[in-house]
Amino acid sequence: MTDAGNLPAGTISEPKSSRIWTDIDFSVDGKQCGYLRLPVSSHESAYGWIPIPVAVIRNKSGPRVLLIAGNHGDEWEGQILLMNFLRQVRQPDVRGTIIILSAANAPAVEANRRVSPLDEGNLNRCFPGKADGTPTWAIAHFIETHLLPGTDLVCDFHSGGSSLEYLPSTVIVRPKEEQKMKYLLSLVHQFGLPVGFITDAPTGGDQSLWGACDRTGVLCLSTELGGAGTVNLQALRAAEVGLLRLLQHVGALSRDQEVARAQKVQLFSRHPARDYLYSPAPGVFEPHVGLGQRVHSGQVAGVLHSTEAPWREPDVVYFRRSGYVLCRRVPARTRIGDCLFNTADELSVEQLLSNNRVLA
Ligand SMILES: [Zn+2]
Repeated sequence: MTDAGNLPAGTISEPKSSRIWTDIDFSVDGKQCGYLRLPVSSHESAYGWIPIPVAVIRNKSGPRVLLIAGNHGDEWEGQILLMNFLRQVRQPDVRGTIIILSAANAPAVEANRRVSPLDEGNLNRCFPGKADGTPTWAIAHFIETHLLPGTDLVCDFHSGGSSLEYLPSTVIVRPKEEQKMKYLLSLVHQFGLPVGFITDAPTGGDQSLWGACDRTGVLCLSTELGGAGTVNLQALRAAEVGLLRLLQHVGALSRDQEVARAQKVQLFSRHPARDYLYSPAPGVFEPHVGLGQRVHSGQVAGVLHSTEAPWREPDVVYFRRSGYVLCRRVPARTRIGDCLFNTADELSVEQLLSNNRVLA
């Protein structure tokens, strides 16, 4: 990365074996749209393939950026963001290569599900995948071995999906190196959503796309753009502008198009598990707080009603830590172990960098 924020020019490595094939040529200039083809041999289609939409826009040398949505099939803002961007982006405006996978786990997207109906695979828990595995593992393997090598930056656009809703946020995993932290923070500020949060470890660990990026030395920026199985329009519009600003910042898009400056970003830190509040009992959850609200340790988060014994006093759920509510459960019907809320601690850039120095 340079002082100007530009990523270095990417190089494409030779693909390793995969059952997935495509007639897209990632090495030539132009704008190509087509499919990654995942072979299936079923009763209905003996010699068929599952289509996974892919587009590559390449213009000479420059950074290589991979834009992914539909990693979880029921997270819609990122998918719409990339479909709109794909139709609008002009090849002469690109510098280097932009690859777009707007429905990465296409069978899950088609089924409106977090996981694939073909193998119950959660793509973000399947890395590094398996060349000869079932569909979701084969997709993960293709992404890690064919698309990530030679890529400089991955943007993985998530939302809360059907069961969660997030305060629209940009997300990074804390790297060990201070230089990398500073660069990732510059990307968070360029993307420009009002909230950016830093987590010490991705929820899916090594099996997530983050783990794959770590293994292949690729920078990764993610988002939580809303969720609840719907489309947060405000977050979508902010992300559309943020994506242009981000791609210009890393040198993957020309600066000919004027893009509004980013708003101030409030940074938070979230620790997986510690900052997750789980349901201690089954029932119908009546939340007592909302997204973005400041809560304190011991505060009532909500109550769980028993529909089978409505005369019984509901179970009361308390926050164990103080913080801001970043994420909430959407369905009211709840079982033991369902995640009800995520909270996060407010942070300054100085705190972040000094924490990193302690880590180093
Ligand atoms: Zn997701």
